[in-house]
Amino acid sequence: MDAPRRLPSTRGLFPADVPDDRLARQVDEEPPARQQCPTCGAVRRGDATCHRCKSDLGALLDVEHRADGLRRQARSCYAHGWYRRAAELAAAVLSLEATPADRRFLTCACLMSGDYPRAWREGLRAVADERLS
Ligand SMILES: [Zn+2]
Repeated sequence: MDAPRRLPSTRGLFPADVPDDRLARQVDEEPPARQQCPTCGAVRRGDATCHRCKSDLGALLDVEHRADGLRRQARSCYAHGWYRRAAELAAAVLSLEATPADRRFLTCACLMSGDYPRAWREGLRAVADERLS
């Protein structure tokens, strides 16, 4: 008989495992990909044009603003107990801009809505993301 397969740790995956200050930072902190120009790597200043290479970042800003709006809607739905809608919105966020915090949020929303197979899949991806970062 084979030894039971060791499952990945879920440590840090669920809000109860994360110290409050770390959770607050994850929710409010800007995704790391937003900090640099995707063309030249210069630190971004929030402008629609890169100060170094003059790349047009307008379309990128539009996507980021859309992701922020969807994130706010997802959190609002979660706070109201509308977990299925929160999961739909979180999935839409991930299609625009994937962060480990968004993946964990989607996992929790799936768990709360009773979609356990998807919660399992997203949880495994969240753990994998954490290991890569
Ligand atoms: Zn640049």
